[in-house]
Formats: sequence, structure tokens, C-alpha cells
Amino acid sequence: MTMSSIEEVTPLVRKAALLNAVKHGGRAEVGAVIGRVLAERPDLKPIVSELARLCARAVKEVNALPLSDQKKTIEENWPELLEEQKETEAKKLPPLPNVEKYARVTTRFAPNPDCVLHLGSTRAIILCHDYARMYNGKFVLRLEDTDPHLKRPKLEFYKAIEQDVLWLGCKWDEEVIQSDRMELYYEHAEKLLEKGSAYVCTCERDEFRALALASRPCPDRNLEASEHLTRWEKMLTGGYAEKEALVRLKTDLHHPNPAVRDWPALRIVDIERFPHPRVGSKYRVWPLYNMACGVDDHMLGISHIIRGKEHLTNEVRQRFMYESLGWSYPETLHYGRLRVIGSELSKSKIMRLVDEKLVSGFDDPRLATLSALRRRGIKPEALRALVMEIGPRPVDASLSWDNIYALNRKIIDGTANRFFFLNDPVRMEIQGVNRTYVSTPPLHPDHPERGKRHLEVKASDRKAIVLLSSGDAQAMSEGKLIRLMELFNVRIRSAKTNIVEAEFVGESYEDARKVNAPLLQWLPAEGNVDTDLLMTDGEVVRGAAEPALSNVNVGEVIQLVRIGFGRVDTKSQGRIGIVFAHN
Ligand SMILES: [Zn+2]
Repeated sequence: MTMSSIEEVTPLVRKAALLNAVKHGGRAEVGAVIGRVLAERPDLKPIVSELARLCARAVKEVNALPLSDQKKTIEENWPELLEEQKETEAKKLPPLPNVEKYARVTTRFAPNPDCVLHLGSTRAIILCHDYARMYNGKFVLRLEDTDPHLKRPKLEFYKAIEQDVLWLGCKWDEEVIQSDRMELYYEHAEKLLEKGSAYVCTCERDEFRALALASRPCPDRNLEASEHLTRWEKMLTGGYAEKEALVRLKTDLHHPNPAVRDWPALRIVDIERFPHPRVGSKYRVWPLYNMACGVDDHMLGISHIIRGKEHLTNEVRQRFMYESLGWSYPETLHYGRLRVIGSELSKSKIMRLVDEKLVSGFDDPRLATLSALRRRGIKPEALRALVMEIGPRPVDASLSWDNIYALNRKIIDGTANRFFFLNDPVRMEIQGVNRTYVSTPPLHPDHPERGKRHLEVKASDRKAIVLLSSGDAQAMSEGKLIRLMELFNVRIRSAKTNIVEAEFVGESYEDARKVNAPLLQWLPAEGNVDTDLLMTDGEVVRGAAEPALSNVNVGEVIQLVRIGFGRVDTKSQGRIGIVFAHN
């Protein structure tokens, strides 16, 4: 690129960088900026490597600005661009099919309380809730706790799930718990047995499987209904042990998917060994997933089932039961799988990590549980924006944590007050300071009305002491000019591991900017608060924060300058615990 063309392209690159940064909560990405510039100026393709350098520099500059300054620059220069962006932000859900067929749109979110909820459940919860609201319908929370043996529910998870769903802002209109509805499943099992649409199978599991694979009936299938009702009674009263008998639904033995052929509907659980946490040993026959879910969807008047496409086969299975009972099947929306790169979204893995104490609990920031996200200061609004972006599409999607962070940053940037925090503070002695300096930066640069912080540096014998983070101190080199944020400029004389020596240079921010001096956060020598920062990899970074942090309440989301956002998690005995969210 010639000098003149660089000059010509620079404003365009800067605009693209600013716009990309604002769109992603303050941080532009070089690749996206290059893409945008090339879309506008395809003639620059032959010099793309030079353009890339230009973009990288612009991104670096733009990312160094606070989001508020980035927005201000766009507002001043290209106000129309912000409008355009607002429009794309207000995403709406596509309409539901066949709404007119139903008196009332009714949706349900139906988790098993055998674990807490994680990020993977957010889509189901928000879609089901928001669709119900969109049509002035009803949203049902249904706890599916009918497997006391393999997917054992735990009382603590019922409460945790309710709390998580409420946190997402998805208040339900009705809550049902399946273990309260056992008589209903029994009633329908009897109906199906009477009609000859179900039967009690006493075959060994492998024996049955071999027959089903060959599309052949087991010896029980064609017995009289009366025989099955007798066996059913025997199941209920303890005449069979676990695995000796189960109720199967008659489907089609020639169905192309062998997993659909005569699926198991109710089975016996050794309830003395595996008592249910809510109803104890009251019931020994328990409905399996498709039986309980199928009956409930009909009985609760669910009009639209919105769930992951891993349930497609369950729809096929349940339709046989609906047909036998003369019911019509609800509308279904099966969305694609959602993968979050770098996180474990499997309940069994989460349970194992907690059980083996490899993490501190279900809200350990290493996990992608909703309680962990909440603890870090990820806002439900960010998760809602994420769900609106991906919607109920059937295609698989994978997203990165950066997507979530970008959405969250937009939400918390305006509310999070700023504080200085130093990892493992190191003393800096500054010569030539001839008076006491009081620095009063605002709690938030966009909101002066929230008040100011107060950082005081006393001088004695023209010497002052401040603290720096050990990371910054290690990066010091002799002769380098640095600016202590909101204070003054110093030049480094020497930097040893435990002390940095410097001299006072001046107060002018402009002078520091001219030479691109690093801007460092610092603390006064005394009066700071011991602060632990719990990172997302489980590491605890010990350090100190400025005195004003003591006034922050537990639960508040804050920004540690040059480090990132976090949520105040604990305050005790003069120590503050912060859980890191993202940068
Ligand atoms: Zn059988």
C-alpha cells in the first residue's frame, strides 16, 4: 500500500473496528474487521496482508478504549450505524405452527431433578417460556422424577431447578411433579392393558431384544388382556421382583427403527433399596420416560412441545400410545444440538466432578451450570439474547464462550463500577513527589452521579510509595515511562522482584499518551482490602483491591480495571472474594 492509500483506508478501518467492538461489547476482532472492510472495498483484496496489519493496529487501539468511548465516537461520526445495530438486536422468535388449532398455547419445560441445570437447558426454558408469553398462553414446569433407580432424583435439585428457572426470568404458570401423579399413570396403564394396546412382558431382556430385532412377538404379546391385567395386579402387589416383569406398549414389530418396537412403559423398582426421595417406598411400579411424559403432555393440555432433536424417536414412540388412547399428538419443534466449545454439558460428568470433589460444588466456576454462571455474574439477559440469536432452528449450532461473554459485556458494562485490583502487590518507591496526591476517579466513567473513589498518595521527604501488581512490576525496564492511572507519570529507575524504584516525571496525561506509555492500575501503600479472585479454571489469585471495594455488596458485578468483570461473592473478616466472569 502506498502512503496515500493507507491514509485513505485508515478511517474506514477505524470505523469497522469501532463498529465491531461495540457490537461485541467492547472488543473488536481483527478477522471480522478485515471482512467488513473487504466487503465495502473488494479492490483492497490484492493487498490484504497490509490491510490485515492496518486492521490489527486499529483493533488494538479501539480495544484499548472503554466501550463508552467507542460508542461515543460512533454516535458523533456515524449515528445511523447505531440505529441499524439496534434493529438487528431486537430479534423476535419465528411464529409457532398451527396455533389456531388450540384454545391456548401451552408449553412445558420438563427436567429430571437428578442434577442441577446447565447452560444446555437454557434454550428449552427460554423458548418454552417466551413462546407461552408471546401467545398469552401457559408455561408449565414439570419435574420428571419417576426413575428412583438409575436417574435418582434428589430433593436439593428440585429447589435448585426452580431457582434457576426463576433466575432466567421464566416464571411458570403451573408446576407439576410426576411422583405426585402416579395414580394417573397407573390408570392409563390399565386402560392400555384392557384395550390390548399394552402387555406385561416377563421375558429376559436379551431374549426380548433378539425377538424384537427379528420383528417377532414375544410369548407374552398375544395373551388375553385379562391375563395381563392379572399380571399387572401382581406387579403392583409385589408378586414380581425388579426386572421380572414390565409393561410394554404394543407398537409395530416391523417398525424400521427397532428401538420403537414395543417400548417399555412401566417397570418395577426395588423400592426398598432405592426409595424415592419424595414418596419413599409407596410405589414399586414406575412409569418410564415415554409413558409418563406422553400421558402428561396430553393431560396438561400441552399444545407445543419444544425440545431437542434427540427426542425425535420419542415422538415416534409416543404417537403409538396416543393413537391407542384416541388422543392427538401436540405440535412439536425439535431444535438442533447446541455445543458450547470448551465446556462440559453432561449431567453425569458434572455429577462425577462434584461427587469426587474435583470441583468445589455445583456452582464451581469451572462448570457450565446455571448456578456457576450466576455466581460469576453472567446475566440471564445475556443468555436470553443468546437463545434469541440461535432460536428454535433444527440445525446444530456451536458457540464459544466468547459469544456469551460479548453478550454479557454489553449488559454489565454500564452497571459494573470500576475498581483497582492488584495481583500479589509489589512496592514502588517514587522519588521527587513534592506533595500529597488525591486521585478521585469516578466509580463509573459514564455515570459520574454514582460518585467517586478516593485514592491517596502521601509524600514524605519528596518520596511516595504505591503498589503495583507483580505482573506489571516484572515487565518493567529501566528508563521506561509509565502512567499510573488517574495519578501521574513516572520513569523507572530499577525494577527488582520485590521493589520498583522510579522517579516522578509529571502529571500530564497527554505527555504519557504521546509516547504510548503503559497505563497501569495501582494502589496506595495502605488501607487496601485483601481480595481473592477465583478464576474460571479454579485458581485463586490472591491480591489487594482499593478501599472503595469494601462498600460493594455481595452479589454486585464489578469491573477490575485491566483485568475484567467479576461478581462479589463473599465478604468476611476483612477479605473479599470475587468470582471472575470474563474480560
Ligand atoms: Zn415377553
